Amino acid sequence: MSEASPQSRALVLFSGGQDSSVCLAWALARHAHVETVGFDYGQRHAVEMEQRSVVRDAIRAQFPQWAARLGEDHVLDMRGFGAVGDTAMTAEREFELTEKGLPNTYVPGRNLVFLTYAAALADRRKLRFLVGGMCETDFSGYPDCRRDTLDALQSALNLGMAQDFVVETPLMWLTKAQTWELAASLGGEALVELIVEDSHTCYRGTRGARHDWGHGCGECPACDLRRKGWNEWVAAGRPGLAA
Ligand code: ZN
Repeated sequence: MSEASPQSRALVLFSGGQDSSVCLAWALARHAHVETVGFDYGQRHAVEMEQRSVVRDAIRAQFPQWAARLGEDHVLDMRGFGAVGDTAMTAEREFELTEKGLPNTYVPGRNLVFLTYAAALADRRKLRFLVGGMCETDFSGYPDCRRDTLDALQSALNLGMAQDFVVETPLMWLTKAQTWELAASLGGEALVELIVEDSHTCYRGTRGARHDWGHGCGECPACDLRRKGWNEWVAAGRPGLAA
């Protein structure tokens, strides 16, 4: 899927959530130098942005083999874009399905915009690999998470920026249970625990109680997916962890 080398440099689209935290670990295991980028698009809850540095610091502290590879963090101001899509991600609304059958957390074209900004940053920073947690499995119906979309965008970015970017999506075909398995195989119990404790998924921005699967309200669609994936992984005997 890509030609990683000992000199390879990557940029991870990193929100501080479960998926992008696993992507960050995946990139650190694979690439020589890894930077992160976050997008401030006026999220309803500051906790999402706060957990980014908590996860980064915890990885640096607990995984010395990755610490030297973990480079700068960048935060891009996307509030203008956030204002365009008046959705449940940025406005105070209840979660529901739109007439197209998409959750109203869907922001039209978000991944296209984020990846384009990420590519512009990567161009300046000489980072070839763009790593994102987009996923077609457990599909929420987001058309810009499809690998076909990302293949087309990769071509457009390479043509339009005269570059040789590789858009890597390690979670594309994984279920949420398999994402836990990937975390376990990358960093064992310590990485699983780090992601449970420090990554943030809940749409409501609730840290609150610590469940087996992490912090969150336990009721929103994001918590629901995360809990189900966790339970499935546990029921399968926690694959990925050494016996
Ligand atoms: Zn929640």
